[in-house]
Amino acid sequence: MTIRPPARVEVRPGPLLLAGVDDGPSLRAHRARLGDLPRVELAGLVELAESGAVRGRGGAGFPLGRKIRTVAQGRGLRPSRRPVVVVNAAEGEPASAKDEALLGVAPHLVLDGAELAARALGARRVHVVTSEDRPLVGRAVASAVAERGDGRIAWTTHVAEGRFVSGQARAVLELMAGRPGLPVTAWAPEAVDGHKGRPTLLSNAESWAHLGLLALLGADEYARYGTTEEPGTMLLTLTRPADRRGRIDLATVVEVEHGSAAADVLDPSVLAAPLLVGGFHGSWLHPRDAARLTWSQPHLRSLGAALGAGAVVSLADGSCPVARTAQWTTYLADETAGRCGPCRNGLPALAEEVRGLAEGADTRRRVEELTGLVTGRGACAHPDGTSRLVRTLLTALADKVEDHLAHSCGCATTFPARVA
Ligand code: SF4
Repeated sequence: MTIRPPARVEVRPGPLLLAGVDDGPSLRAHRARLGDLPRVELAGLVELAESGAVRGRGGAGFPLGRKIRTVAQGRGLRPSRRPVVVVNAAEGEPASAKDEALLGVAPHLVLDGAELAARALGARRVHVVTSEDRPLVGRAVASAVAERGDGRIAWTTHVAEGRFVSGQARAVLELMAGRPGLPVTAWAPEAVDGHKGRPTLLSNAESWAHLGLLALLGADEYARYGTTEEPGTMLLTLTRPADRRGRIDLATVVEVEHGSAAADVLDPSVLAAPLLVGGFHGSWLHPRDAARLTWSQPHLRSLGAALGAGAVVSLADGSCPVARTAQWTTYLADETAGRCGPCRNGLPALAEEVRGLAEGADTRRRVEELTGLVTGRGACAHPDGTSRLVRTLLTALADKVEDHLAHSCGCATTFPARVA
């Protein structure tokens, strides 16, 4: 089965990254609103990234400041190997549309962040990777790059296959090297040994936008939003499950301050139903936890969850979380590169057992065994993310699973676990 990205993306204006939605995406409008890109030396750039606590927003959440330091150290050790900068906008997670929205309405914020880093590190080229199943993003990037014709930085664009794992960092580097864009085993982080063996600063489109904004606004202005520990904002994609043909109808992209209440952007009907936070590699939240949810990593950690790429899927349509988990696990098992044992054997077996659960068999013990067996064994985090989805169904929504097995869950939708 397949799940495709949202057919329609709605973008709400926000306080920082999405403040210029009504101005349009042109370079002229961008500069008129935020001014020219300042020159920032390497130490200043690291300081900006650390002051804004900028983290990877593709799912891994690695601190960007630490990555910049590692790339700079690599350059120092091997000066002949000029660093490479990569904007990862491949957005393989179909429940997410935040990078798509950001590059549609504020592409120059993203490119500013990457250009600043390239200049500070002495990189001459920035690579931008988009996805074939989000063609509007590719066009938005091409237009924005064409507007930045001062020649100081060379821009190269790449189009990844529309697969869940295509946005994984090593998959992106494989694509840039002219090979199939699928994850591979790596013995060193890409910041040390990346594109053509060079130190490579690869980050998600949203992370670059935060860095660009920090440089343009200054750390103090940026920190007017959010909390002391987590300054600034983050993008969320609010959506519902795909239909029977695997199509997500609508996604709404919002910008929220760190530490703000989920109830500010989610309707009461959404908070009253199970919520998947972090996309298909994310965690289920029970309505009793969703009701007091704040958009803060420490708070989410205390609930056993993480925001990942910021996709939030609501079951306010009344569909059954067990049937949905079965559907998504089948999808994730189909999306692997099929290279490592946990993906070749483990995920199909896990998907089969979760389908059994959805069909009414009590397979919980076997499901738990399999999630343990696949976790931490792959060359990338795909098995870990898939097992997180399933594990949190059994833990966070244990009472819903009980009700499902007792045929008393009262699901408004009995979604078939097996979708052609
Ligand atoms: S863990 Fe799965 S998706 Fe990741 S590299 Fe191995 S086979 Fe591919």
